[in-house]
Amino acid sequence: MAILENTDAGLFCPAGGFHIDPLRPVDRALITHGHADHARAGHRAVMATAQTLDIMAIRYGEAFAGVRQVATPTRIGDVDVSFHPAGHVLGSAQIHISGRTGSVTISGDYSRTANPACAPFQPVPADIFVTEATFGLPVFRHPDPLDEIGKLLASVAAQPERAHLVGAYALGKAQRVIMLLRDAGWDAPIYIHGALQRLCDYHIAQGIPLGDLRPATIDRSTKAQFAGQIILGPPSAFAATWAQRFPDPVICFASGWMQVRARARQRGVELPLVISDHVDWPDLTRTITELNPAETWVTHGREDAVIRWCDLQQRAARPLRLAGYDDEAEA
Ligand SMILES: [Zn+2]
Repeated sequence: MAILENTDAGLFCPAGGFHIDPLRPVDRALITHGHADHARAGHRAVMATAQTLDIMAIRYGEAFAGVRQVATPTRIGDVDVSFHPAGHVLGSAQIHISGRTGSVTISGDYSRTANPACAPFQPVPADIFVTEATFGLPVFRHPDPLDEIGKLLASVAAQPERAHLVGAYALGKAQRVIMLLRDAGWDAPIYIHGALQRLCDYHIAQGIPLGDLRPATIDRSTKAQFAGQIILGPPSAFAATWAQRFPDPVICFASGWMQVRARARQRGVELPLVISDHVDWPDLTRTITELNPAETWVTHGREDAVIRWCDLQQRAARPLRLAGYDDEAEA
């Protein structure tokens, strides 16, 4: 029996009787992190880090699963299971499974760039390494995030009469942008759209300081006060009239995808900020080299390029082609 199988519902461990990040409701799910394409509601039992369980409750309500269990090293069925930091977002973990037929590390989404919101990626060697490939093309090389924040602050300084609206996903990216701004010395209040409030509050409750955050509530009487300010919102809010109420807004978007100029143009982004919570090509290939697994399974994104790289390195690799993961959802 293989340690891990690729099924319609996602990755399944037959010896343990559980799925990893399943795509539809299952009996028993182990969840790597709280992004919506990995953490879904409706499983009978969920095991995840305490923070991922909290995040799922924030997003889906307390009844998101029948039973919830905080991840600790444990035995499930005939396998040993443990969770290890993935460096992606608050609470994110890789899942390591070992049993009689071998061992596997499932990275979920991961990053090797320092992120004060979460513990750094921990290399966990195994027979099989399941890697994401969101930015799995040689062209993807993420710049230093502080340099990107420098561009934002330079733009604010150069155009004090305009409001800077930064699109950032609610889990991870929004808090990362705020922390980077604080690191770069921006002590002023940062205004946030209501959709970011609960997850920002949760980060603060977990001991991650975000400074002075205020609701980005705007009407005719308050419009002028937003000149020269930085406002964060979910990208979905930017198509709405909400964004246009701000004084001559500069539309910014913080995402790894902003390296692709066409995507920035498509979204009407005036100031793209290349800030990613995923490994870029150098970090992805370095991680495979470091872990040196007998087999690499590739999912979530640019599978073909990573498979080809593995072939050239004479490494056994296979694409998983899991349906239902959205490479752009929260990159
Ligand atoms: Zn993710």
